[in-house]
Amino acid sequence: MKIVVVSNRVARARTDEPIAGGLASALFPMVKESGAIWVGSSGHAGDAAQTRDSFAKIEALGRGALATVDMPARHYRGYYEGFANSALWPALHSRPDLIQVTADEYSSYREVNAFMARSLLRFGGPETVFWIQDYHFLSLGAELRHLGIKRPIGFFLHTPWAERSTMAAVPHHGDLISAMLAYDLIGFQTEDDQRNFEDYLRLDLGVSIIDDVVTSKYGTTRLAVFPIGIDVDEFASRAAKAVARPEIMRLRASLQGARLALGVDRLDYSKGLANRLRAFDRLFELQPSAKRAVSLLQVAVPTRGNIRAYRELKNELATLVGEINGRHGEVDWIPIRYLNRGFAQSTLAGFYRVAHVGLVTPLHDGMNLVAKEYVAAQNPFDPGALVLSSFAGAAKELDAALIVNPHDVDAMAKQISRAFSMSLEERRERWQSMIARLREGSVQNWFSDFLQALAGVELVPARVAASDAAVMPIILDVAEGGRTAHSG
Ligand code: UDP
Repeated sequence: MKIVVVSNRVARARTDEPIAGGLASALFPMVKESGAIWVGSSGHAGDAAQTRDSFAKIEALGRGALATVDMPARHYRGYYEGFANSALWPALHSRPDLIQVTADEYSSYREVNAFMARSLLRFGGPETVFWIQDYHFLSLGAELRHLGIKRPIGFFLHTPWAERSTMAAVPHHGDLISAMLAYDLIGFQTEDDQRNFEDYLRLDLGVSIIDDVVTSKYGTTRLAVFPIGIDVDEFASRAAKAVARPEIMRLRASLQGARLALGVDRLDYSKGLANRLRAFDRLFELQPSAKRAVSLLQVAVPTRGNIRAYRELKNELATLVGEINGRHGEVDWIPIRYLNRGFAQSTLAGFYRVAHVGLVTPLHDGMNLVAKEYVAAQNPFDPGALVLSSFAGAAKELDAALIVNPHDVDAMAKQISRAFSMSLEERRERWQSMIARLREGSVQNWFSDFLQALAGVELVPARVAASDAAVMPIILDVAEGGRTAHSG
């Protein structure tokens, strides 16, 4: 059995670079351990790419491989900045007001999906299972069927799926969402997402769903929830090591005994950054004694800078940080350290460990792996407190966090204050409950549960016992094309 995982971008094979995005951080260890082939865009466009597959590079990644392909020059912008990120992304995150798309961009999106399907034929032996990732490739399954592929094709959505009236704001929504029924299995992060998808199918497409199975002209499609996780032990060990790194020691020393809250996000409107900053502002207003006693380190990694909504957000946030620092700062202290760049996960893990409070307050988020990484990175004897938005998928599992409504700035300010002053006993109790949930839903389990449901591939162990998670990487024997899998 050969597993081909497809996403828009693949991670780099090196681990000392930032991974901007939860999808890449989740797939990276799984491709390495399982022997899957991970195919994605090289991030470059080339004219030759329109007619033939032009794999720029195939390189090893542990037991697996990374294969990148140049994208068709004529369609790449319309596909990526256009339809995927200026129509689908805002709709999926319940911001239909930000949709800005032209008819050409939908055809570019479809063209790039068709191009990727042709490129994938190169990897399609009789034993291949295709697993397509995320909103860039909603119609890739239909294109593969069009090329005659009969083998199992699965799809996992890393983002939320919005309510049907919001999805109806996407141009060509009926055409596009009907094409998704070419997949054998569609996986969602949460039950809410699956329910919204089902509502759309029933009410807008008029299809019936019996026991989570949809029947269409393509055959049957199963719908299911597979909450994505992290490699808990890997993150915990990274964090324990990171505290000795010079950067982390400098960060700790700079606090001079004060308490630190940390936010780590892509600079995206779904992340609720402005309200988080306002909550901090409000905290200092409500509680002047918090000045000097607490501060915020906010990492905001620029992303999709060619899209206007992102450029405007970047300016808005820079202005807001300036105002708050100007209002509350002192000659020798500033409330917010604001960094517009990415860090390697080995460094991030140290930030998480040093921070007394993790702030994860998106307005909408499929899962949010930063929340999970923050929990995994804590010192079990003196863990920090997590403040988590109820609109992050992670809140379903991490219900022992301080759950907040990111639209209610005053209430958020109060919960941040509460997190800073939480007793050791309460922090430990909440942390133990959260870490247990993380171990149950590790990325290893996510990966193997999905493939099991898609193709009955028995990746051993199908459900790793919490205590064994660290020592049981999943190994699938891809090179020999065998169906056997074993743990190593
Ligand atoms: N990340 C990173 N360096 C950074 C910021 C983020 O490697 O400077 C990683 C982070 O560790 C996490 C991922 O990017 O694994 C972000 O995933 P999340 O699900 O929180 O959000 P997304 O970006 O996918 O919306």
